[in-house]
Amino acid sequence: MIVVSSREELRGLLVSGVEKRRVLVPTMGALHEGHFSLIRRAREWVGEDGMVMVSIFVNPMQFDRAEDLQNYPKPWEADLKSCRGLGVDVVFAPEDGGMYEVDHSVVVTESRLSSGLCGAARPGHFDGVCTVVLKLFLLTGCEAAVFGEKDFQQLAVIRRMVRDLDVPVEIVACPTVREADGLAMSSRNVRLTAEQRADAPRIQRVLREVARAGGSPAEMKERVRREIEAGGLARVDYVKVVDADTLEERECCGGRVLLATAVFYGGVRLIDHLTLDSRP
Ligand code: AMP
Repeated sequence: MIVVSSREELRGLLVSGVEKRRVLVPTMGALHEGHFSLIRRAREWVGEDGMVMVSIFVNPMQFDRAEDLQNYPKPWEADLKSCRGLGVDVVFAPEDGGMYEVDHSVVVTESRLSSGLCGAARPGHFDGVCTVVLKLFLLTGCEAAVFGEKDFQQLAVIRRMVRDLDVPVEIVACPTVREADGLAMSSRNVRLTAEQRADAPRIQRVLREVARAGGSPAEMKERVRREIEAGGLARVDYVKVVDADTLEERECCGGRVLLATAVFYGGVRLIDHLTLDSRP
């Protein structure tokens, strides 16, 4: 496994390297089973002769809170070990500040799908995501890239960017991987206290219960908020019912919709969602 820590090194490697098909898994590190499933899918996509590349970069441009950026876990050695164990060919981990020119002034903005949900709650977040992901696609020259459905808005925004800018990269999606108790795996979970960790499976449980009980989006949102906050530890940042394709808010639940929420446990923000499909 080759580890490169600068854009120049990566370019050098790819120019001199054997011409292989490349697939990229972009991450911010602190790798867990969710990331592993993406890496396995990447290998499946590219085959044994292809090159699986994993980027590890905690992208400052997509953080809206300094505290979140500073406290983002960085278990570097463990991440490398995981990548080695999974047969990753190249890890690209640019150093802090190594991804952008000091006076960089070009930003990629998706203006429709990013406007609600996490985009509304975290101004500038998806500009940061689109900009770094497009740079990673260009730097790696990948033919495909694998993303998790856990970050469904991110996936939708990236797909739109690739479509609208004619980016020649196939976007491959993987389902959300959960802990045994239903909590969606996230690098931020390690920052929860034992008490918060024990409460957090409530998020997915409540989404399921509320979806099962049904009702209007307004009733569902109200119930999700009330029941997630009932444990006294969580604060709901948002809860929305949106169209699964346009991500626009819905007044009724017909067709394919998402019940999506973001929840704060102290300074730790977790997201989760559930797809409701009433199509025949
Ligand atoms: P992150 O390191 O959090 O930026 O995530 C990197 C990639 O892993 C993104 O495409 C995420 O959607 C994906 N991912 C993160 N957590 C999970 C999970 N629990 N299940 C599946 N994919 C995930």
